[in-house]
Amino acid sequence: MGTKHLYIETYGCQMNEYDSDRIKNALDAEPTDDPKKADIIIVNTCAIREKADQKAFSGLGKYKSIKANKPDVIVGISGCVAQLYGDTLLKKIPHLDFVLGTRAIPKLPEIISNIESQKRRTVETSYDLEELFEVEPYHKRGKVTAFVSVQQGCNKRCTYCIVPQVRGDEVNRPLPDILKETTNLIEKGVKEITFIGQTVNSWKENGYKFGDLIRAAGEIEDLERIRFTTSYPRDITKRMIDAMKEVPQVCHHLHLPVQSGSNKVLSNMKRTYTREWYVDTIARLKDAVPDITISTDIIIGFPGETDRDFQETMSLMREIEFESSYSFKFSPRPGTPAAEYEKEQTVDPDIASARLSELQAFQKDITEKKNLSRVGHIEEVLVEGESRNDPNFLSGRTDHNRILNFKGTKDLVGKTVQVRVTEGLLNSLRGELVK
Ligand code: SF4
Repeated sequence: MGTKHLYIETYGCQMNEYDSDRIKNALDAEPTDDPKKADIIIVNTCAIREKADQKAFSGLGKYKSIKANKPDVIVGISGCVAQLYGDTLLKKIPHLDFVLGTRAIPKLPEIISNIESQKRRTVETSYDLEELFEVEPYHKRGKVTAFVSVQQGCNKRCTYCIVPQVRGDEVNRPLPDILKETTNLIEKGVKEITFIGQTVNSWKENGYKFGDLIRAAGEIEDLERIRFTTSYPRDITKRMIDAMKEVPQVCHHLHLPVQSGSNKVLSNMKRTYTREWYVDTIARLKDAVPDITISTDIIIGFPGETDRDFQETMSLMREIEFESSYSFKFSPRPGTPAAEYEKEQTVDPDIASARLSELQAFQKDITEKKNLSRVGHIEEVLVEGESRNDPNFLSGRTDHNRILNFKGTKDLVGKTVQVRVTEGLLNSLRGELVK
């Protein structure tokens, strides 16, 4: 396998990015950026919104001609769309060789060797829990940040969400495994770890809770920064807040999806908290970590959302003033309760679009205002590499998760430096290195 070339196209969240790196490691193949040079092509998919799974299908369509010219190339689909549609994908996509479910990455080498020896198309979507965390991700040399998965699946049942269907119930990774992977990454030069899980802060294992995981990670020598995502509001406990306050490596930024400011909509989504509870949780977090910044996710046009419900969401946006927010129009996913509600209580798509534009325009102003307010301040930046837009600039993130670009030389990559902010833009800051 060592000489094979792998091209992998990834859609969706950090979990998928992490799984793509696990796939690279499982196959021990040489990653390539050119699908025409690949021996194995994999599209790692996301099913969270209808658009995302359509993208995955068109992603796969692109490789039809490559397969026609080079019949030995192996083309596969992995991730949530693979899990959701299983063997129907083989019927639908004739040039597809395998379908790999969300929990089947450890089986991939065997699947590939069977396809090579027997030319048999394969579907593997079983939930084998024993090997679940067995393959660690590929790590690109020189990268200073890395994800570490602490959990697979989700036990919540938000009525719009397909994740529990495609990733199964929550399974938490043992603490020693998490710490071992983290320590290995630090030895390779990583400075910042982001723990990832569908509801990362519900992690518990062998009597330990998420706050204990943060404290244990804080003991790892040379680990400079700890982040985690995605937190579930209801699972924010005193133990977790205390750990965030007391472990110095924990970054002062939290992504905490609220989804709606209307209690009626929250209840229909089965989010298990109220608006008041969410606001109070933010207050408790700010009490403990006064400079913490909060970002969120919002769904607009959930079935039955009235103008009044939407105005409640807007009033929450004004009350909290999130640092940033990811907002989307509701998209019904097959087999979820909300897809059934949608049949009777659809929000007119034009109304939903207008609400989304209003919310996004408001957020843009707030984000710009917050970024501008940083001008003149000195920020600590972990330098991640060259800026994507200009090789004369370096790029890194502040403790509060803002991207900060500044002029500097490559030897600063991996170092934490002080940068004075000179400009606040919509998606980033600009600054100058403090001598
Ligand atoms: S918490 Fe809700 S939205 Fe998040 S993955 Fe679980 S079911 Fe989906």
